[in-house]
Formats: sequence, C-alpha cells, structure tokens
Amino acid sequence: MMIPVLLGMPFAAAGDARADDTSKGNELTQTYLVSTAAKNKALLLRVFEAVRKLEEEKRGQGKRTLEVRHRVSSTEFLVNAGGATDFWFMALAPKDLDNRDRFRTDAIITEDTKSFRDESGKTITVRVLKEVPPKPVEAFTKDEFVRRLKDGETWTLVEFEERKCKICGGDGMIEKPEEFVECGDCFDGKVSVDYLVKWW
Ligand SMILES: [Zn+2]
Repeated sequence: MMIPVLLGMPFAAAGDARADDTSKGNELTQTYLVSTAAKNKALLLRVFEAVRKLEEEKRGQGKRTLEVRHRVSSTEFLVNAGGATDFWFMALAPKDLDNRDRFRTDAIITEDTKSFRDESGKTITVRVLKEVPPKPVEAFTKDEFVRRLKDGETWTLVEFEERKCKICGGDGMIEKPEEFVECGDCFDGKVSVDYLVKWW
C-alpha cells in the first residue's frame, strides 16, 4: 500500500470527504479523521498547526497559578498561590491584571520580604515571589501528534472553520410571507464549525 508522505511524515488525512455532515441545518462540530488516505493535505497541515499551537501554548504556560489579592502597580501584586500564605509578586513586565484575576506564571520564591499595612493598620510581612523567564517550549512534532492520536487522544479545534449558513444560504436573512427577517441560526450568513480531531 502506498502511504502518502507529508513533510517526511507518513500520515495524511481522510479530510473533509469523511465529514459527519449529514444533519440538517448547521452542523457545528465536524469529526476530522487523520489517516493514511490523503485527500486534502493543506487542510491536514492546517489541522496539525492548530493542534501544535494548542499544545505548545499549554507547554508555555507557567507552573504556578496565582490569584491577585491586591494590585499594587502593573508589575507588583499581592498574590495568593492557593495556600494560606500570600506573596508579594514582582513581574518581569507590566501585567494587565486586577484584583481577583487568576494567572499562570513561572516564578521563584525569594528570601526577600515586603511589609505593608492591612486595612486594620496591622503590619504584614510576606515573602517576595519573583517572576522568571519561561523555559523554552518543547516542540510538538508530527510524530508526537500521530502517536497520541493512535493512543486515542482527540483535540477539539474551536471555531476552526467558517461556513455558509445552511438555513439562510449565506444571506443572513430569511424570507417570510410578508418580509425578510434576520436568520436566527447564524451571524451574517456565516456559522463557525468546531473540528474534533481524532485517529481514523
Ligand atoms: Zn443563516
């Protein structure tokens, strides 16, 4: 059997020929099966790139989840890391965060402390948590993509594709006996389609 090769990788996609596109109206999720029967390599590459982006974004996220208890400035925040103790967080660059926002970051606990007065006037001393540059992100490769697909993993690509609305035919309007009304099934005649990516 001939196995199509995509960028050195023996995998290809069944592509949209196998779309679960049988329902009436607007199908919002399409199952995309990666397999050895290549039809649309450009689409497969787009799917892979979207999955890669998701995975590498996940890897690039910092290890600590912090919650802002009080914003001091754009680079300094009193934060909580989930326990009973608060920290004085010092960011590497200004952050657009407000009280009660949660965020992920790479940070180390230092020996430094900061003291401040709380609402009742009591002096509070907390350790300083310093943001450090994130570690380089390990690349998500096609080999890994195929291996994890074969292990049964799936990915959902939200709003991966835009299609013409089937209800109004892309006009965004529907003709009623007396008038044209806005189509309630789409936005300006377009619908967004999620892709569920899985192994054949
Ligand atoms: Zn419509």
